[in-house]
Parts: sequence; C-alpha cells; structure tokens
Amino acid sequence: MNINVSNFSPLTQHCQNIRHILIVEDSLTLSHHLKEQIDRKFSFDCDTARTKQEAEERIRHKRYDLIISDINLPDCDGKFIRELINNGHRIIVMTGVTDEEKRSKIITLPIVDYVVKNDAKTLVNYLTRTIQRLNENQHTVIGICDDSATSRQIMIHMIESQNLQYIEFEDGQQVIDYLSDRSVKMDILLTDYLMPNIDGLELVRRIRHTFLSEEFPILSISASERPHILAQFLKAGANDYIPKNAENEEFLTRLNMTLDHLYTNRRNQSLMEELGKAATHDFLTQLYNRTYFFSQIPHITANASRQKKPYGILMLDIDHFKKINDTYGHYAGDKAIQHLAMVLMDISRTSDYCFRWGGEEFLILIPICETSQELLHFGERIRNTVEKSKIRIAEENFIFQITISIGGILGSDNDVQSLISKADEMLYTAKKSGRNCVKIYEM
Ligand code: GH3
Ligand code: MG
Ligand code: MG
Repeated sequence: MNINVSNFSPLTQHCQNIRHILIVEDSLTLSHHLKEQIDRKFSFDCDTARTKQEAEERIRHKRYDLIISDINLPDCDGKFIRELINNGHRIIVMTGVTDEEKRSKIITLPIVDYVVKNDAKTLVNYLTRTIQRLNENQHTVIGICDDSATSRQIMIHMIESQNLQYIEFEDGQQVIDYLSDRSVKMDILLTDYLMPNIDGLELVRRIRHTFLSEEFPILSISASERPHILAQFLKAGANDYIPKNAENEEFLTRLNMTLDHLYTNRRNQSLMEELGKAATHDFLTQLYNRTYFFSQIPHITANASRQKKPYGILMLDIDHFKKINDTYGHYAGDKAIQHLAMVLMDISRTSDYCFRWGGEEFLILIPICETSQELLHFGERIRNTVEKSKIRIAEENFIFQITISIGGILGSDNDVQSLISKADEMLYTAKKSGRNCVKIYEM
C-alpha cells in the first residue's frame, strides 16, 4: 500500500466518548465499591450486573461504551467475554487468576486491558485511571511510522483498542512533511528504526529540533538486538523504546504510561496558564490588574524615552457608583463594571493597555501619546461612549446608564508614581467640576 501524505487525516471512526459503563461482577462488595468510585470521579452512567443473565438483560436495553467484566461468573465461564467481543463491545477483563497460561491467552484478546483482582484499592485505581485515559484518548492522534504494512497493522489493532486516533506513515520523510504544516494534529509518534529515506533515529533527531519531548512524545520501536541503538534513540530524544518483539501487554503498558505523562503535562501546563492569567488579570473584567501595570511600566517608559515621545495615562472612575449599588443592587453594580471594561476594550487600540485599578476605577496606558490634546480627545471619546451606552440586565429585563469622570496626564520620565498621583488629582478636579467630564494636566 502506498500512502499519500498530502491528503490524509487521522482515522477516528472507532473512537467514542465513554459515558455508559457496565460492571459485571458477582462480588457485590467489589462492584458497588467500583461503581461508587466511578460515580465520584466521573459524571458517567454506571450500571452493575451480577451474572451473565443480568448483564445480557441490561445490554438488551442499553448500549454500553465500556464493559468491565469478571471472567468467571456464577452462570458462565470465559465464554461470555468471547460473546461480548464478537458483538463488538469495548471490554476490560477482571480476573482472579494470574497463571501464565491464562495470561498469555488473555493478552491476545482484542480487549482494552485486563486487570488482576489483587486488592480492591489497586484495582479501582487502575480502572479509574484507564477509564479516564480512554476518554482522553479519543482526541489523541498517534502517528505510526513503519515501512512494514504488517507491523503497522499490528500496532493499529492495539491503538484502536485504546480508543486512539491514528495516522500511518511509511518512512521518516513522510512524517517530516506532515509535521511541516504546523496546523495538523499528531500527539505522539511511534517510529520504527530501519526505514527507507530517513530512518527512525534521524527522524527523532530532526523532530527534536522543533518539538520538546514533553509536548510531543516519541516511542521508538526496533527489532535491533544491539543495545547501543536503544541508547542512541533515548539520547536523540525518544521518550521510550519498545522492542519489536514485545508482547501486546508491554507495548500497551509503555504506550499508556507515555499517554499518562502527556496528559499530566498538559493539565499542568493549562493550570500554569490559568495561574499566570489570574496573577496578571482581574477576575471580574478580565482586564489587566495593577500588578501587571507595575511589571509593564518600565518597558513602556523605556520605549517612550527611546522614541523621545511622551506616553499617556488616563484615570477613570464611575460617577456615584455607590448609588448604583444601593439603588439596583451589587449584581447590577458588577454588570456596570463589566460593561465599562468592555467599552474600554472596544475603544482602545491594541497597543493600549487597560487596567482595572481598583473597585470602580480604571487606568488606561497609551504607550505613545504626542499631545495633551490627543489625550483629551481620547478621554472624551470614552466618556461620550459610556454616557450614551445602555447597560442591560437581561434576567430582570431592565436597563440603566452610568457616567464616568476622567483625569489624565502625559508622561515623559519614569517617575510613574507622581504621574499617577497627578492623574488622580485631575480626576478629583473632574469630580468637583460636576462629574461626567475629562480633565488633563497642563504642564
Ligand atoms: P464618586 O462619583 O465620587 O466616584 O462616587 P462613588 O459613589 O462612585 O464613589 P465611592 O468611592 O464612594 O464608592 C465606590 C463604591 O464602589 C463603593 C464600593 O462598595 C463599590 N465597589 C467597589 N468595588 C466593587 C465591585 O467589584 N462591585 C460592586 N458592585 N461594587 C463595588
Ligand atoms: Mg466613583
Ligand atoms: Mg472610586
């Protein structure tokens, strides 16, 4: 088979969202414990059955995305698992027996996994981790790079059993071509060693020029008996190495560990991003906060003085805001603050910075602002837009309006504190002058 890289996309038809789970287990203690843990961890629909007969009854009425079943049931032996497989179910097998003969039979079955019923805690941990992974897997694309169609087919069977998407490649060059379009999706690569054009080792080296091992894991697979190949792969940046003659169980366990690392990294990454955002942004308005102002201001002042041009500061405050809270309630007050933030985001240019300075006070920083006339015009435009716009409380079907007062100043030195104090004074002047107006400090 020849693969045309230019027009292919990940295969997904075998992937499904795991939402309905059936536990088939004759020990009520174990099945209830397992169900309780699944209910606690996920918002899935989880049923239990004690016998083959009960399980069949349930399956007749509902389509389960995953069946976790004991092999030996009071009314049946391993045959039930066979029947489930033949009917196309996704299955995890639980077994009390660990002898080698039985294990070697189980691992050849087209199932997600098997798990030994040693102790309940280990079993439940393993199963909940597997269920979580199966769900995350549906969005994950595995690249399979191997010049042997037979080897690819063996890997595809295992990958399909894990609810993973996949794409096939025949050699390293195809992978490089595919990845050169940064918009394509591939999360993990499984690569063979000996291949035409670019071999697996060279492929790993080239990918690592662009992608880090935490963001794009690579598992190398090789039939080579020479131990230095393993070391070369790992040194070039492969995350793990699987011998080509490894059993399915080893292959899948290594792949699953890599997937777990990838998902944990991603969760940590998005947590860090959230924390980073929370540190620099205001929760209510999503504008920058005061901390961010002080982290950015040195760059702004330095840049302005390099260009020998002043920067502008506008300090805004909602008029009689206390009255709004008192008259319409705190919720309406919050809506007014959010509304003002949206107006500021709309009106300001992408180069301007909008900060929520405190309660109902905002600050706008204009990195380059040539004259106080320009600053006054900008302030007037904001004031005017706020005065004319309406704030709607949809839930209560009522509308109200606010006005704001603004004080502003042009700055050319880096004594920002004194500029802010002066802008504040100008804001106070605007309040004393009847509010709903803009006052700019004249040098
Ligand atoms: P002035 O025109 O002189 O600015 O009068 P004011 O009533 O707007 O000013 P004052 O500083 O007396 O009152 C500000 C009020 O803003 C008091 C405070 O409870 C309220 N406030 C501060 N932060 C929030 C918030 O996040 N949400 C709501 N709803 N109210 C807030
Ligand atoms: Mg106010
Ligand atoms: Mg105030």
